[in-house]
Amino acid sequence: MGIYHRPDKLKDALHLLASAPVTLASGCTDLFAATEAAALEGQILDLTNIAPLKTIENCHGHWRFGAAVSWSSIVGAALPPAFDMLKAAARQVGGVQVQNAGTLGGNICNASPAADGVPPLLALDARVELQSVSGMRYVPLSAFITGPRQTTRRRDEIMTAILVDEGKAQGSSAFLKLGTRKHLVISIASVAVRLRLNGDRVAEAALAVGACSPVACRLGAVEAALSGVRVDTVEQHVMEADVRAALAPISDIRATSAYRLDGVPSLVRNALILASGRGKALE
Ligand SMILES: Cc1cc2nc3c(=O)[nH]c(=O)nc-3n(C[C@H](O)[C@H](O)[C@H](O)COP(=O)(O)OP(=O)(O)OC[C@H]3O[C@@H](n4cnc5c(N)ncnc54)[C@H](O)[C@@H]3O)c2cc1C
Repeated sequence: MGIYHRPDKLKDALHLLASAPVTLASGCTDLFAATEAAALEGQILDLTNIAPLKTIENCHGHWRFGAAVSWSSIVGAALPPAFDMLKAAARQVGGVQVQNAGTLGGNICNASPAADGVPPLLALDARVELQSVSGMRYVPLSAFITGPRQTTRRRDEIMTAILVDEGKAQGSSAFLKLGTRKHLVISIASVAVRLRLNGDRVAEAALAVGACSPVACRLGAVEAALSGVRVDTVEQHVMEADVRAALAPISDIRATSAYRLDGVPSLVRNALILASGRGKALE
């Protein structure tokens, strides 16, 4: 392995990144999986010793997740029910060792179509914070990931946080994942659902699907169809054609595209039943 840097100040990390070709590393659970060598090559810039990147806080009208927050930290954090879907995704990323090391920022920056953290964050209208020596900018998550393994992050930028506005951290939520087995599995499809109610009616529905298109996507037509419906019937208003029209799944080692298209409508309906507090109906 080349030189290993582990600064404890963000500004030192940013200056290093600006001055040398380094590989950014957080939990390394994706980086190591991608290398066939015994160790990572070149200069490594480990971000996990920078305290502000590891905190979750509610301030200035938004929830702020440091980019190096681990899945285990998310599971253990006191968060409103709108984040239940993110916690459910966190509990299903690999096993406990992977959840202890793997981070939210790494999951997003790796930009796998099957990244389990992305659908919940899309359903929360999250934005990402990017910093470089020349400043800071914010990008909606929906515009940040542009394709498999592709993002709009510039080479000199570090993702420092993921932000969710208070106004979007409202309602109840659920996440479901379809895999070849219950645990320790990469998603064939994943669904995140957030419902905000006005009385017994849906005031806002936010639904996102992962692993069924080059980039995880929202189901805009389904969301529109659910607006104003009674929450105890919400799943009955999901049109399969609306779900399928939003998706462009591939066939790969995990499943065929037809299997994915068949599975997602049921996954969406079940996630809606869970988010509307009727999970017993699924037992
Ligand atoms: C056994 C196993 C099972 C897994 N199961 C799942 C699963 O079920 N679901 C799932 O979604 N994923 C799964 N993963 C993948 C992985 O654990 C997650 O994507 C994890 O969240 C990645 O985070 P990390 O900190 O380890 O990223 P790293 O491996 O450290 O980095 C990933 C990429 O992001 C870049 N990067 C990291 N942090 C930053 C930052 N702050 N700013 C800019 N760029 C950055 C790195 O340069 C690299 O390109 C699994 C991995 C393993 C090994």
